Amino acid sequence: MSDIDALNIPKLSLPRIVIVGGGFGGVALAKKLSKKKEVQVVLLDKNNYHTFQPLLYQVSTGGLEPDSIAYPIRKILQDYSNFYFRLAEVQQVKSESKVIVTNIGQLTYDYLVIAAGSTTNFFGNTEIELNGMAMKTIPQSLNLRSLILENFEQALLTDDLHERDALMNFVIVGGGPTGVELAGALAEIKKGILPKDYPDLDTRRAQINLVQSGDRILKGMSDNASKKAEDFLESLGVNIWKNTRVTTYDGKTALTKTELKFEAATLVWAAGVKGVPIAGLDAKEILAGGNRLKVNEFNQVMGHDRIFAIGDIACMQTDATPQGHPMMAQPAIQQGRNLGENLLRLVRDEAMEPFVYKDKGSMATVGRNKAVVDLKNYKFQGVFAWFVWMFIHLFFLIGFRNRVVVFVNWVYNYVRFDREARLIIRPYQRDYSLFKNQKTL
Ligand SMILES: Cc1cc2nc3c(=O)[nH]c(=O)nc-3n(C[C@H](O)[C@H](O)[C@H](O)COP(=O)(O)OP(=O)(O)OC[C@H]3O[C@@H](n4cnc5c(N)ncnc54)[C@H](O)[C@@H]3O)c2cc1C
Repeated sequence: MSDIDALNIPKLSLPRIVIVGGGFGGVALAKKLSKKKEVQVVLLDKNNYHTFQPLLYQVSTGGLEPDSIAYPIRKILQDYSNFYFRLAEVQQVKSESKVIVTNIGQLTYDYLVIAAGSTTNFFGNTEIELNGMAMKTIPQSLNLRSLILENFEQALLTDDLHERDALMNFVIVGGGPTGVELAGALAEIKKGILPKDYPDLDTRRAQINLVQSGDRILKGMSDNASKKAEDFLESLGVNIWKNTRVTTYDGKTALTKTELKFEAATLVWAAGVKGVPIAGLDAKEILAGGNRLKVNEFNQVMGHDRIFAIGDIACMQTDATPQGHPMMAQPAIQQGRNLGENLLRLVRDEAMEPFVYKDKGSMATVGRNKAVVDLKNYKFQGVFAWFVWMFIHLFFLIGFRNRVVVFVNWVYNYVRFDREARLIIRPYQRDYSLFKNQKTL
């Protein structure tokens, strides 16, 4: 077997479409293509599962088990023909020879689609990257879950009130939907769970700080939604710091540009994401802001007829979207579906149709009975919005079992005011020597 065939995928007479990434965009595209028998589809992902990222914060806060928001990619596509999945990390694209290099070997393609999503953007601040927590993957969410619980266990071991407070305090950087949802969930835990789990700690002293660089939270949503989300968070006891930028964090103290100081053992960075360019497709000219690949209206990567990009990694700059589409699930899904049609048109020698984004609106939940929803013609907040938020998330979750499990968990958590997945299954290694004068676990 030559090195090029290392992935052991049969060479058919059909055009081979290789998709990098089984996220929202990659899965939508693979489903569209694999229904037809006109192409061979190869999907590569470094994980063997699809992650439903909008619910990661519930894993971090013990509301859901990780397996209810993950789904095996092979199972999603097992009934489709001419479809092949390989567990592989793509490392390089050699566009002249139409070959991609992965950690398990090389593979040729006729058409290549990059749907590799994005990663947390620390904007070059390595100190925060080292000491803060990201929440972009399931392992990161589990790390955060462990760290939060370990900090409370550790808080029990110190007699120093200052250190104890720091171990119970949180700083969440970024007032987008992720930061807002996480802050709300932590506030509910503080109110309903911590006093029962840690009766010998004064958990009322725990501070949840949401820090936002701009002048309002949820800046991608309407003013009303921002204002209401702020009211909801404040009613739950979250401290909101607007026009505030965190500049340093050493694992214990966060400092801001406006000279505020937070003593907190947990800092979650939810202030932005960026693309991860793959070698060979990383020339400056084809990268837009945030390392996203510049694509035309057919999702073709600038200067490459046979290479496409969709979802978070793609930046389609139009008059209506000078910064590209929002890095959210809907654009990724819609681009995946549109590109599926277009690739079939291409192999049939038909003209491609440009991508047009249908904005279905946006939403965020703050907690029990508290959510904000902005639809095109209708904006609402409160209990009804919360039900809409739950219904939409259940609808888009992949897998019948996952929907049932998440639904049952939510009903249980609602009725019992509880979140029972607060488990340290895989301890997170934290350097507690930063917190002096205390015993270590
Ligand atoms: C905490 C959080 C909450 C969010 N909440 C919402 C929300 O409420 N609503 C909303 O619309 N959006 C939300 N988003 C954003 C949304 O999840 C993303 O916009 C969406 O996942 C983008 O889809 P994608 O297909 O481009 O990439 P992804 O879904 O990220 O998938 C990328 C895939 O590529 C794989 N991959 C990456 N690099 C490689 C490589 N080199 N080789 C092989 N495989 C690779 C990854 O393993 C992954 O499976 C949230 C994101 C986060 C992190």
